[in-house]
Parts: sequence; structure tokens; C-alpha cells
Amino acid sequence: MSATLGTLLQQIEPGWSIGLFENLEAAGLESSGPWNNAGTGHSALCELNYAPASPDGTVDPKKSLGINEQFQLTRQFFAWSVNQGLVKDPKSFIHPLPHMSFVQGEAHQRYLKARYESLSAHTLFDTMEYTEDLDQIAEWTPLVAEGRTQRTVAASRVVGGTDVDFGSLSKQLVDGLAARGADVRFGHRVTNLVKTGSGWRLTVKNHASGETFEVDAKFVFVGAGGGALPLLQKSGIDEIKGFGGFPISGVFLRSTNDEVIARHEAKVYGQAAVGAPPMSVPHLDTRYVDGKKALMFGPYGGFSPKFLKTGKLWDLPGSVRPGNLLPMLNVAKDNLDLVKYLLTELTATNSKRMNAMREYYPAANPDDWEMITAGQRVQVIKKDPKKGGVLQFGTEVIASADGSISGLLGASPGASTATPIMLGLLKRCFPNQYSAWEGKLKEIVPTLGTSLDSNADLYHEVKASTDQVLKLA
Ligand SMILES: Cc1cc2nc3c(=O)[nH]c(=O)nc-3n(C[C@H](O)[C@H](O)[C@H](O)COP(=O)(O)OP(=O)(O)OC[C@H]3O[C@@H](n4cnc5c(N)ncnc54)[C@H](O)[C@@H]3O)c2cc1C
Repeated sequence: MSATLGTLLQQIEPGWSIGLFENLEAAGLESSGPWNNAGTGHSALCELNYAPASPDGTVDPKKSLGINEQFQLTRQFFAWSVNQGLVKDPKSFIHPLPHMSFVQGEAHQRYLKARYESLSAHTLFDTMEYTEDLDQIAEWTPLVAEGRTQRTVAASRVVGGTDVDFGSLSKQLVDGLAARGADVRFGHRVTNLVKTGSGWRLTVKNHASGETFEVDAKFVFVGAGGGALPLLQKSGIDEIKGFGGFPISGVFLRSTNDEVIARHEAKVYGQAAVGAPPMSVPHLDTRYVDGKKALMFGPYGGFSPKFLKTGKLWDLPGSVRPGNLLPMLNVAKDNLDLVKYLLTELTATNSKRMNAMREYYPAANPDDWEMITAGQRVQVIKKDPKKGGVLQFGTEVIASADGSISGLLGASPGASTATPIMLGLLKRCFPNQYSAWEGKLKEIVPTLGTSLDSNADLYHEVKASTDQVLKLA
């Protein structure tokens, strides 16, 4: 998020001085690190939680369309970054990969068909395919069909999906920031923020020297991922009052068998278990990390009170304030299914985990898999006039009324939407400058402000050109 915002700011205001302080020893090692997230270029091609069924069984395409439109902006930013030489080779961070949804049983079959009928009528999903034929599924993705006895199945597929190594992208963008004059400091932790007139004074600790120093800034973006909530709380701005965070941890299983890895070439998403947070839907995913093809399954949910993978056990209790206590208590009371789901996941044995994987890959062999810890997601808890407090699975941009400080809470759809989220943040925090920036921003993201779903010719033209630059065609 910070790498994207910094890159945009350097283009639209080359005269501004930018400082970036990162607690860890390099960029992109927390949630954006390739093994801390699933690397899905989220565009609602395969994620069923972005297309909920209505009580009458129909599927409203609105949410899926919105997410897909957002990813189109991200793709354009990616292509611009490659054209600018900020990212050396697109293969270092993005790969074409079919996105599939797979379900079992008649009810899920009906749902998937309704989703296909709803989405495939739209330009952005016009290449979506659907089948209830296991032999066809075997052709699309052999591991999912192999050894399967249940034949009441259905799958949909969009060949033009992507796998993204957000860690590699973040590192390259941050290198670009430094090369173009930003003061980038790793191993530096922001420990406090105090308002000073129209700007902010940050206290920063240098881990190597143990020294603490202060920095003044007219504008601050708290791009600290899971660490954003505590820092925004320290700022004391009214807009953060009433917000809390609910951390969800996770693990992935990663294949150690090259033959198995070679036989799968897709991201295959299914339905969430009862009580599971929507983004914890397990999926069987091809990944491309450090130039090597890989295969993973997960995430399995879990609970840890840390707000960052490298965080502290005190993070959650330390975030409780008089203003967010009630919302947090209400969320605990109203989300017993989630609590039960997390407890079940936490106590799951390896054989239970393998059984969960066999829903997607019936012939999976436990000897072929190792467990890795995924990143932390801090879900947003916010005040709600009716319920007292609600748990939200999306992202929330927090900005002070004067626009001098902002930050991002939440983690879904996540890194895939960094470009539209940061563009929205610029508009919100710099309302007086934004219209003057629009021309330059459109050089970066040419279809900014245009619905591509309503402009089929433009969509196909832009998609073809970004595919070519990103070597996705
Ligand atoms: C299990 C899992 C799966 C996911 N899958 C996907 C996916 O498939 N597709 C997708 O698009 N998104 C996915 N996401 C979400 C995505 O990973 C995040 O939305 C995205 O990486 C967040 O980027 P960020 O820059 O906000 O945070 P981060 O990448 O976490 O960066 C924040 C940085 O701030 C630093 N920091 C924190 N506190 C301080 C401080 N006080 N001082 C200095 N530095 C600090 C941290 O060290 C870190 O480097 C997933 C997330 C998880 C956890």
C-alpha cells in the first residue's frame, strides 16, 4: 500500500519529499510477502464470497463487478510500472493463471450455475466457462478430479486470471522510490505520532543504533498493515475512535513434491465452511515465487492476538479503548460461529487438515506437504448504531477531517486493490489538489473514472495492451 502511494505521489508531486520508515529489514516481508498471502490477483473470477446468493437463489453481480473493475485499475498501474522500468521484468511478480471455482452437491451446483449465468452476461466476465462434467474438470485441473467418487460437481473457469507476488512488487517499487529520491529507511520503527499545527511529528526508532529521533511531516500515511490500528490510536484523531481489530491467523500447506506441483496450473476456490470468515475459503493454488512454480492449499484459519506476524501477544489487549470496548464485546457475542470455527481450526489435527484438502484434491498424500504460517489479518471492528459493533471483512480507509493523516484497516480484497484504494485516499485527503493531478494519474491508470464493464471495446483494448506489457497473453 505504501509503495503504491509513494509511487503515485512521486509522479504527481515530484517536488515533495517522501520518507518511508519500515520496521523490518526490507520491504514486503509482512502481509505482502509471497508466502504470507495467497497471491491471488483478486478480480472476483473465482472467489464465491464476492457473489453471494439472494434468498431466491439468484446472484447479484454488483460486488463481483466492483472488485473486477478495481483490479483493472491495478493491472494498469502494474503495466505502467513495467513501462517505466520501475519493475524490471513482469515475470518477477505476475503470472497468468486460470481462476476456477469448484463445488460439490446439488445445492452448490445450482448456486454456481446461477453465479455463472449472472456474471458471464457481463463484459468483465465474458470468458467465463461452466461445466458439471467431471471429465471436463479433469481436463481443466487433473488433481481436483483424480480419485473423486462424488460426480455431482460443478466448476467455472476464467483462463485470464493471475498469480501475483506482492512481496516482489513491493520491493521493486520501494527500490524505485529510493532511486527517485525518497528517504527509505529499513529497520526503523515509528513509535509515536503527535499533531503539530498543520502537520505531524513522528518519533522513529532505529533498531541498529538504538537511537530515537523525530521527523516532521505535513502528511502521514500509516501504511503499517496490521500495525495501523495502534498507530492511528496513538495519533488521537477522532476518526479512529470506536474502531477495533480482530486478528485472524492462518496456515497454508505447501507441496514439496515437484511432480504434483507440475500437474496443477490454476487457482481453485470453493465454498466457505459454516462460520468461516469469507476470505478463509480454502483453495488449491499454483504459485510463482522467486521464479519457481509452487503449489499450496489453505488457508486454515486460526487465532493469535498479534496484529502482525512479527507482532506481540499484547497487540490485541493493548488496542482496547473505552471507545471500542462495547463494539468489541458485541462482535464477540454476535460471531459465535466464527469463534467456533476458529477454535475448531486451531485444534485441527494434521489428518483433519488433509481431509479438508481432499475435498479439492482427493488423492493428496500427506508426505507431499509441509505447513507454513501465513500472515495475520486484522479484521475491522467498528461501531454500529443498531448492534453496538460489527465485524467487517473489507478494508476501511481512515482519514482525519483535515486530511493530514490517513491509514488503512482490514485486509480484503487486499493487495490486489492497492491502486484503487490509494487513488481514493488521494482524492479524500487532497480534495483541493486532486483535480489538478487527474491528468497525470490518467497517464498511469488510463481508464480512471470509467466503467470498463459498460465499455466493452475499451475493456478489450486495455486488457490486450496490459496483457502484452505484463506478458500475460
Ligand atoms: C493469509 C492471507 C492471504 C491473503 N491473500 C491475498 C490474496 O490472495 N490477494 C490479495 O490481493 N491480498 C491478499 N491478502 C491481503 C494482503 O496480503 C494485504 O492486504 C496486503 O499485503 C496489505 O499490504 P500493506 O502494505 O497494507 O501491509 P503489509 O504488507 O503488512 O505492510 C505493512 C508494513 O508496515 C510495517 N510496519 C508495521 N508497523 C510499523 C511501525 N510501527 N513502524 C514502521 N513500520 C511498521 C510492517 O513491517 C510491514 O512491512 C492476504 C492476506 C493474508 C494474511
